Amino acid sequence: MSQPNKPIFERPMFERIAIIGIGLIGSSLARAVREHGLAGHIAIATRSNQTLEKAEKLGLGDSYTTDAALAAADADLVVLCVPLGSIGVVGKAISGALKSGAIISDVGSSKTSVIKDLGGSLPDGVHLVPAHPVAGTEFSGPEAGYASLFDGHWCVLTPTADTNMDAVKKVRGLWEACGMKVEEMDAAHHDQVLAITSHLPQLIAYTIVGTATDMEDDSKREIMKYSAGGFRDFTRIAASDPVMWRDVCLKNKDAILDILGRFSQDLNNLQRAISNDEGDFLETMFSRTREIRSGIIEMGQDKPDIKPKDQT
Ligand code: NAP
Repeated sequence: MSQPNKPIFERPMFERIAIIGIGLIGSSLARAVREHGLAGHIAIATRSNQTLEKAEKLGLGDSYTTDAALAAADADLVVLCVPLGSIGVVGKAISGALKSGAIISDVGSSKTSVIKDLGGSLPDGVHLVPAHPVAGTEFSGPEAGYASLFDGHWCVLTPTADTNMDAVKKVRGLWEACGMKVEEMDAAHHDQVLAITSHLPQLIAYTIVGTATDMEDDSKREIMKYSAGGFRDFTRIAASDPVMWRDVCLKNKDAILDILGRFSQDLNNLQRAISNDEGDFLETMFSRTREIRSGIIEMGQDKPDIKPKDQT
């Protein structure tokens, strides 16, 4: 019996899926593909033997290799789940092995860079469908993944004018079958939106926790002891993988620099208002920002807040 509200697809949707990179996102995808019966064969490739052994022990796939081209050979769909800085290298390594009609997709957090890094290296007859499942945690590696990671979250596809629409339909079907809501968007627009909703908050977390890290030992101990919800949340976000975030900054450089410029200006305005005792300015600013919170709740993107008693 099919579940209500879940799209119905032919199963398996793909004869062979190759997942290259089996960390948090790759292993969650492998689990979801298995759980929903979306592929006849799941081929897994990663860079190190150590990670490959973990993936095999967890039973995430049907075949395992450190040779990405071997995993990609004969696959109907190849999903690159590697850090953004490795997309181009992996694309080049597998391009000669891809069969005609194969779809190549990815999960990278920035999209114009993926189109640029993969575009030139793919043979004719191979369809590139860039994708970004906007779901994650601060953990990494194959043990960190779980099949329901994607449930109810958005996945953004950024096809170009040349992208094969059948291929887009199939990648859409994959993520919908994994529980995601799918939207299509221009890659540059995706990068601007994610710069503010995801990349800027991450950089703010790194900065706040970095400031605390640079304080003297006595102050640091007190910060940890008295850390209330706000700071604790930042430490969780700032514990995310440094390689992934290094690559996001380098690959979404323009959009991030643009939003950091605006943010710095707003921070300067705030600093000036506090320094000049401009209470009205502060109250107006703090009231205006509440609207965004209400909007997020109205759109079903978060649950209404219940304020914990130990927080101010
Ligand atoms: P992760 O847990 O650190 O896993 C990365 C995987 O990529 C590892 O299996 C690693 O292999 C493999 N890898 C790295 N370089 C490789 C190469 N040259 N060839 C083959 N495999 C390689 O990272 P993740 O969090 O899953 O992130 C993967 C991608 O998802 C990134 O592009 C990121 O932007 C995107 N993303 C992340 C999140 C998130 O919250 N984490 C959310 C949405 C999208 P070894 O361990 O063998 O070295």
